[in-house]
Amino acid sequence: MTVTVVTGSASGIGAAVSAQLQQAGHRVIGIDRRDADIVADLSTTEGRQAAVAAALEACNGVLDGLVCCAGLGPTASSCGLIVAVNYFGMSELVDGLGDALACGDKPAALLIGSVASAHPGIDKLPMVELMLARDEAAAKAQADVLGNPQAAYAGSKYAITVFARRKAVEWGRRGIRLNVVAPGAVETPLLQASLSDARYGEAIRNFVSPLGRNGSPDEIARVVRFMQSEQASFMHGTAVFVDGGMDALTRPERF
Ligand code: NAD
Repeated sequence: MTVTVVTGSASGIGAAVSAQLQQAGHRVIGIDRRDADIVADLSTTEGRQAAVAAALEACNGVLDGLVCCAGLGPTASSCGLIVAVNYFGMSELVDGLGDALACGDKPAALLIGSVASAHPGIDKLPMVELMLARDEAAAKAQADVLGNPQAAYAGSKYAITVFARRKAVEWGRRGIRLNVVAPGAVETPLLQASLSDARYGEAIRNFVSPLGRNGSPDEIARVVRFMQSEQASFMHGTAVFVDGGMDALTRPERF
């Protein structure tokens, strides 16, 4: 049986991914702050280490799949926290579970990015370089100094996508596929929190995808299920936008 770790399994996209993978016959080991097989706080080094140790114990050191969904939106309590969970909460799980994946059967890992990662100028933010340099304290401090939650969110999603694409070169040689799915607006508690926030609600409501609606968690999870399957055996190191056409709307000549 395919054994897959899913972070953020208690809600939204992570819950839908867990259900889809279970339907496909996977044994899912869920990690979240609550209501999960492994309850851990991915915003801290200790929490991530505890999550990795518990996951390795649960899978006996042999893992076939990893899907990192746990993340915070721009309404989180601080910009540093967004960086901590969205970048370090994913990258440290990837690193911590890499050897177990290398022992797995046709292993594949996938990180949930965002269409926000394609926002113009995001790649130039100093916090991005600090994330990629693995300097968590400095990256969080930079994010807090800038004090722009949307930039922290987009920067963390851009950095994690670059992290995955760089890692794909090494992991390809180890036989582990690694990809990113970048959703647009998806109806989850995270999006609802932004819609209810006076700072962001109107802008989000006015930025409608070409398909004219938001996505559902299941529409993202079905793509993840495919990308984690042997049907996608030659997909590696790529970022797939599942966004109702938002990326095409904002930058048609970049792909
Ligand atoms: P959600 O709030 O429904 O789910 C996020 C999950 O992550 C929750 O279960 C939460 O408990 C968990 N989590 C948050 N902080 C954590 C921590 N410190 N430790 C452990 N778990 C933690 O939101 P969602 O929309 O399903 O988000 C899933 C992923 O999709 C996120 O990475 C998000 O950035 C990304 N995303 C969402 C949208 C959208 O519009 N909903 C768009 C693009 C990308």
